[in-house]
Amino acid sequence: MKVLKFTVSIFIREQYIYIKGCVIMAETKQFKAESKRLLDMMINSIYTHKEIFLRELISNASDAIDKLYFKSLTDDKVGMNKDDFKIEITADKENKVLTISDNGIGMTADELENNLGIIANSGSFKFKNENEKTDDVDIIGQFGVGFYSAFMVAKEVEVRSKAYGSDKAYMWKSSGADGYTIEECDKDSVGTEIRLTLKDDTETECYDEYLEASTIKELVKKYSDYIRFPIKMDVEKTKRKADAKEDDYSDDAYETVIENETLNSMVPLWRKNKNELKPEDYNNFYMEKFGDYEPPVAHIHSKNEGVATYDALLYIPARAPFDYYSKDYEKGLQLYSSGVMIMEKCADLLPDWFSFVKGVVDSEDLSLNISRELLQQDRQLKIIAKNLEKSIKNELAKLLKNDREKYEKFYSVFGLQFKFGIYQSYGAANETLKDLLMFPSSFDGKNVTLKEYVSRMKEDQKEIYYACGETKERIEMLPQLEKIKDKGYEVLYFTQDVDEFAIKVMINYDGKPFKSISDADLDLDTEEEKEEAKKLDEENKDMFAFMQEAIADKVKTVRLSKKLKTHPVCLSSDGSITIEMEKVLNAMPQNDGNKVKAEKALEINPNHPIFEKLKDLYANDKDKLKDYAKLLYDQALLIEGMSIDNPVEFANLVCELMTK
Ligand code: ADP
Repeated sequence: MKVLKFTVSIFIREQYIYIKGCVIMAETKQFKAESKRLLDMMINSIYTHKEIFLRELISNASDAIDKLYFKSLTDDKVGMNKDDFKIEITADKENKVLTISDNGIGMTADELENNLGIIANSGSFKFKNENEKTDDVDIIGQFGVGFYSAFMVAKEVEVRSKAYGSDKAYMWKSSGADGYTIEECDKDSVGTEIRLTLKDDTETECYDEYLEASTIKELVKKYSDYIRFPIKMDVEKTKRKADAKEDDYSDDAYETVIENETLNSMVPLWRKNKNELKPEDYNNFYMEKFGDYEPPVAHIHSKNEGVATYDALLYIPARAPFDYYSKDYEKGLQLYSSGVMIMEKCADLLPDWFSFVKGVVDSEDLSLNISRELLQQDRQLKIIAKNLEKSIKNELAKLLKNDREKYEKFYSVFGLQFKFGIYQSYGAANETLKDLLMFPSSFDGKNVTLKEYVSRMKEDQKEIYYACGETKERIEMLPQLEKIKDKGYEVLYFTQDVDEFAIKVMINYDGKPFKSISDADLDLDTEEEKEEAKKLDEENKDMFAFMQEAIADKVKTVRLSKKLKTHPVCLSSDGSITIEMEKVLNAMPQNDGNKVKAEKALEINPNHPIFEKLKDLYANDKDKLKDYAKLLYDQALLIEGMSIDNPVEFANLVCELMTK
């Protein structure tokens, strides 16, 4: 923060009171409402894994060092080598103070204010309703609350920090609910020091244990072993004195020495050998690094040498982040070059259809100070991305084959992304995704893959049938479905808006074209039946033309139906835009005014009593037939799940019939 030299003797800027440019007193500032809620939650937490606070603080320290280390590679002025960087933990049992310090990038006063006074980035609360009751276990587990987790174990937190490039250091201090202060302080070296004054022990909670070297060591091993910089601590050790007599085993022969020990192994998990690692190592790393509370569905650990040399550790999450299906979600993998993180989220490594994948890629082939633009054209990166896409696809196919239940759970969360993938890539993703798709079907209501569908197609069946509707239940009520099911054909149920768009792009699967049961030319009849229908159509040609005229602005044709069994009417689409597509496209917000229209046909069941009635009206009461045409059209719309244009007219016509 810059302090300007004013001639005025006293002035107040933000939370400071200055006299001629010197801070004399720090005013207490209040936390922003959301931060305060989170903080209250931390202070009063009954969360059983309070120990994670250490992991969070170490992780922040490591990120801060990463930033300065990265700078040091391209800027000599930093004047530090890789070996100089470290995280130091000290435990002062007498005063119950635990300190975690790093020599990373540090924070300016403004950064202290913005990073610690406001929970800006986590977004944890953004989607939560103010009045919604939130369980703290839920929040802590789901979002990795970072720095604030310190308040689960500390009654007071002091953060002393000196930012790289700044000659002043500042202290942020808070005891929780009452707010925080920021004031200038003494600190020689660049970096951040976090002092936690631990809470007093209670009957159920022992905070003192976090001052024990054994506990700290255990926690570092458990959560932060892979951190690339040494996490050091002075540890008391009992050693034999150098001059102890050989046969002396009394206390005098031993002395207590203090050794500065490195607690972590510093080898990133992805660099380790697969056979050294247990499933829980992979899961812990994932949950810690990507802030998820549920273990992933699967992981892929691959080491590659050859055209592109890299280590990759990828994860397929079990649940979607809250913003996954919003424009705020950013896909990407962490990109390292020989162990140094060069990009937090490298989007080019993942195709959109696998945007849910989390993970790390480490390659020695990439230059350290490569720009984002150059990276996009990097040949190595393109090869890596292609390989990863293949591995992800294979892993998912394996999961589908070996653990159907798990795959279906995964698919219920991320399957939508595959369909968007096919549609938005104009089919380029077909090969990758076609065997990962699933739809519920008329077979047994369960999900079926396209491969399974095709494998049990009837001998005479040429097409893959599908029906669209809001829900499975609504689709099952569609009049068109009855006859096709009677023929023993399986029908896929499309309940998501994108479904039909995706398969329109796919055109066919395994040479078998997709066919909507609402299509006009659904070819279900025998030659004889067709012949008979043609005759009947011909006989009633004039009547249908008359009916069509009555609803000319709505349908292009009125005709006999070959696909209805017991129901009186249905709608068919004749052109390339189907009725379902009309519904979806017109519901899109960007589509106001410019409505899309499917070319519709009203189909009448010749085996339904209504058909005789229509013929009778055509002969004796043509005016009434017009009303019938309108009513039948509106009924067909309702069956399709569409709204009718003039509900009042519809209601009046029905009433008229009822009162006759
Ligand atoms: P997150 O790490 O998820 O962003 P935190 O609440 O843990 O959330 O930290 C908020 C921000 O404070 C960090 O993004 C970082 O900019 C800053 N910060 C926290 N700890 C340190 C540190 N030791 N050194 C430098 N900056 C830090």
